[in-house]
Amino acid sequence: MCDLFCPLCGKDKETLVHLFANCEFAHASWQELDPGWSREFVEKIDDWLGEMWGVLSTAVLERVVMVCWALWETRNQMIFNEQCMTPQHMVAGALNYLTNWKAAQRISPYQTVIEGVVQWKPPPTNYLKVNVDIAMNSACMRMGLGWIVRNEEGVVLGVGLKVVEGIFKVREAEALGVREVLSWIKTKGWERVVVETDAQVVTKAVCAKQILTPFGYLIQDIRDLMAQTEGMRLQFVKREANMSAHHLAKYSLHIQDDGVVEYFDYIPYFISHVACIDYLRN
Ligand SMILES: [Zn+2]
Repeated sequence: MCDLFCPLCGKDKETLVHLFANCEFAHASWQELDPGWSREFVEKIDDWLGEMWGVLSTAVLERVVMVCWALWETRNQMIFNEQCMTPQHMVAGALNYLTNWKAAQRISPYQTVIEGVVQWKPPPTNYLKVNVDIAMNSACMRMGLGWIVRNEEGVVLGVGLKVVEGIFKVREAEALGVREVLSWIKTKGWERVVVETDAQVVTKAVCAKQILTPFGYLIQDIRDLMAQTEGMRLQFVKREANMSAHHLAKYSLHIQDDGVVEYFDYIPYFISHVACIDYLRN
């Protein structure tokens, strides 16, 4: 068996310029992309690429690159799996991939704010704000997570509590709290949420580059969760602006349940006075 021949047409030697420009399969693919595509014989791949780069718009070049990639994939499928495809299917698949990829890039990137304010403020219009904090009890070897959800008028919509057995270092525990609250927000299906933490180390790490430590993996989870939802923000605030969540976290050290304890219909007494102070100040 001769493996030097083009696997797509079987008619000529396989070279780069044949595979991408001169092969009849490639011709059919280019004409599928654009019926006016030139059928001229190409001598050198460099000339062919150089000419396209000089003439075609970025939008067309993106499609050309996708078709080149698809030609290479189709060639490999043919060689290794003996699977063939029509030029029509191949081009449609490549363009569909490009469309999906572009749609995925459009998801709005999340924002992070590192300079902390001292006083709690309601979120912008059409946003919710969730303040989160953690508390630790080394004697009992447990950590408490607490968070409070408020709307643009500063009205408390709900609170959440969770106890986690074990003790982490402070920054890991703070990151765990933020990750927990983001997962919880995701289960609610909410978009446009400002999450506030009084751990600057967490907001800084979320904007920084990859960190390869256990802390870094928690931070990567936070980034992934934030990127999955539209309009997410992570803000650092000073301890004074995070008092409601601070009280909730301390309280959560005493809860017995596994999983999240939520209050939505009424706000528990142990938080109402702090939330009320935030509300009255605005
Ligand atoms: Zn060929």
